[in-house]
Amino acid sequence: MKNWKFGASAKEFERLKEYANQFELLEIYLEQGLKKGQDPIELIAAQITATRKKPYSVHLRYKPFLDEHKDGVDAAIYDLSVLCMSGLAADWGIELFVAHTSYPKNRYELYNQIIRLGEAAHKYKVVIAIENLCDRENLTKGYMLPRNPREIAKILEELGNPYLGLCLDTGHAISNSELTDSLDWDNDVVRKWIKHVHYNDNIPEKDLHLPISEDASRELIANFKYLTQNSKHKGVVIFEHRKLEEAVMGKNYVQTAEYQNIIPGGIK
Ligand SMILES: [Zn+2]
Repeated sequence: MKNWKFGASAKEFERLKEYANQFELLEIYLEQGLKKGQDPIELIAAQITATRKKPYSVHLRYKPFLDEHKDGVDAAIYDLSVLCMSGLAADWGIELFVAHTSYPKNRYELYNQIIRLGEAAHKYKVVIAIENLCDRENLTKGYMLPRNPREIAKILEELGNPYLGLCLDTGHAISNSELTDSLDWDNDVVRKWIKHVHYNDNIPEKDLHLPISEDASRELIANFKYLTQNSKHKGVVIFEHRKLEEAVMGKNYVQTAEYQNIIPGGIK
């Protein structure tokens, strides 16, 4: 649902609806449409109206309001507080949120952000899935982003908060050239904490969110089998792309015989 702008024209609404109808579940991105001073509830409500579907999950804003939060309140906490306090979970029944951490400068800050997200998730009885991020040098220099799914799972295991989870973004792991390395399938800790999946392709050191296609690496597709067998996230995956068309491409491709044959047993 990326690139959707709040206050979109009727034509854009129609287009959104047309694409939304092709998917069983939707994740709504907040950061593209939410502008300073706008009510996030209104934004979500407008998208629900347009698609006639309640979002399965809401992706919180990923760009920190660094300039707006010199007091040290990080963006993820800010967004979550605004959203939850505004009643998104209560009024709309949304139970799953995806969060990026802000830009922690050290491990203490990273832990602290995740702990606070967990406290808020507990308070509002929602699950917050912390996403493994793309480690592009120009973006992440000097910051300790949570990039490795296994590391995030380890932190989540240490914290033991059932309202937290891992959002595995396959493309980000590929960008870091560590999809397989970071997914230790024999490690129950990783398996236990995956509660959401963003399924997209990528190339090293870029973050293009490419569609799943015949060009996708076998490593990526083979890993998908594992993901769909993981009970914690119910086999749900989100095709997360820059264009709506790319999500449709991915969805169509995974239904082809070629794709199904790569993965014995198919997908759920
Ligand atoms: Zn993602």
